[in-house]
Amino acid sequence: MELIFGTHNNNKTEEINTLLPCGYVVKSLIDLNYNNEIEESGSTLEENALIKARTIFDTFKKNCFADDSGLEVFALGGKPGVYSARYAGNQKNAKDNTNKILDELKGIEDRQAQFRTVIALIFNGAEYLFEGIINGQIAQSPIGQNGFGYDPVFIPEKQERTFAQMILSEKNKISHRSRAFQKLVEFLKS
Ligand code: IMP
Repeated sequence: MELIFGTHNNNKTEEINTLLPCGYVVKSLIDLNYNNEIEESGSTLEENALIKARTIFDTFKKNCFADDSGLEVFALGGKPGVYSARYAGNQKNAKDNTNKILDELKGIEDRQAQFRTVIALIFNGAEYLFEGIINGQIAQSPIGQNGFGYDPVFIPEKQERTFAQMILSEKNKISHRSRAFQKLVEFLKS
């Protein structure tokens, strides 16, 4: 069965392809030559994932899913959350975003945070949501060269290194995205 993944990110498509049961083929927006940027105008990760999945469904009329992720810092009331990519401005610069969080946490002891992914699936006419969470702490300063976004300041629970100090396969074993993907895969297997 064919499933459309509402993303232009080949790394995400590859990750889900390695997890899917045989019989499923995932096509990304790149495979389908769909070059429009879908506006993420929702105020929650759930809304944004649904907006993207519904747009893809309306275009292709096929089973499809889309994801949205963000970092939620507890002492900042869950910010940056849905605004993670553009927290320090529309230039969407990861270093600026990270520095903004570190500034806002100056003098605050509670550095608990979570990464959260929501996947919206439209399957045989019904909508489903799947959530993946990894808890952790915000480091005092950025460490590590790997990954992207907030990885250099996020130390996952039960670990001593940031995501940016891990190789991709280590991160993928525990990440919010892989946890949400796993739930999607369990659903598709059942
Ligand atoms: P997206 O929904 O996967 O595009 O993620 C939105 C934003 O959340 C990204 O631009 C990053 O700022 C942040 N983010 C999401 N997942 C991660 C991650 O695994 N590591 C670091 N930052 C992330």
